[in-house]
Amino acid sequence: MTLRIDLQKIEAIIESCKPSRVVFNTPDGLLKITMDAAKKIEKSHPGIQTILVADPTYGSCDTVDSDARALGAEVAFHIGHNTSIQKLGKISYNIDVWDDVPFSEVVEKAARFFNSFGFRRIGLVTFAQYLQSLDETSKIFGKFGIETRIGKGLGQLHDGQVFGCEFYPAFSIKDSVDAMALLGNSVFHAIGVCLSTGRPTYMLDPYSNEVRNVQDLADERLKRAILSVYKAREAEHFGVIICLKEGQMMPDQSIRIKKDLESFGKIVDLLAMREITPDRLDTFTGIQAFVQTGCPRVSIDGYTFSKPVLSVPQAMALIRVLSGQELEPDLLIRKHWL
Ligand code: SF4
Repeated sequence: MTLRIDLQKIEAIIESCKPSRVVFNTPDGLLKITMDAAKKIEKSHPGIQTILVADPTYGSCDTVDSDARALGAEVAFHIGHNTSIQKLGKISYNIDVWDDVPFSEVVEKAARFFNSFGFRRIGLVTFAQYLQSLDETSKIFGKFGIETRIGKGLGQLHDGQVFGCEFYPAFSIKDSVDAMALLGNSVFHAIGVCLSTGRPTYMLDPYSNEVRNVQDLADERLKRAILSVYKAREAEHFGVIICLKEGQMMPDQSIRIKKDLESFGKIVDLLAMREITPDRLDTFTGIQAFVQTGCPRVSIDGYTFSKPVLSVPQAMALIRVLSGQELEPDLLIRKHWL
């Protein structure tokens, strides 16, 4: 892996903010380069103390702005969830990380494969670390006579970028392509693209040179999501969870869902928590089903819970079912799962 962190941006922010203490947070896969960057900063700026938040972080929704301020830091660097937004919260700055691994071999393999299936138009998407590879990939597909589409970015998303729960660029082109191709070795993101677009989706892994169809995995997640909605229909007592993570906190959405469920005679307790895990939820023995308005992937392909734990789109489907409507199998074909 050839990971590059945007040290220039870190240096520019330090130059302009002149902090005495800075905090870093980053996903587990980037801990090593983040610790190296923190060491470099301490060495080149002897007056600066760095602190690495060792809790896990899973997205640009998972910053530590208030923790960093509580720790007395003037600046927090959120590393590796590249977005189009420079600053999150009061003192948190997004710092990009890129992986320069070449895609040419796996893209050529994919092009031959797509041609053998008669796919003429492919939707290209990727996640944070590979955005810089989209244009080159388009050119390679072009040489094989395959047209590519890259959807426009929106909100925090760059053109062609997806998060695990936000798919605007993929969704906007889904009806004009034969299949989607996700650059990078993330089954997690490829499954999200497949479920949110309803299109055949292939993961192009530049490390193993594998072109992987994720349809079976996506189908399995969808079945589980639908089954949870049916199980939740029988519950009388619900817990509706507000997630305490900075970018996932949606109290209004939780309160709306609570009221909707109460209108069908359900008993609903409003809960707030940071990490939604089976152990924590099993503590609430009287509650038969949960809805959580934090990360939808916790419900869709996170833990195996002993009771239904619905994400927002599943909760919407449940409300429709309680109103007497059929449960549509396209409940996850959406631009955004929050
Ligand atoms: S809510 Fe979940 S899927 Fe969405 S960006 Fe955050 S961690 Fe990723």
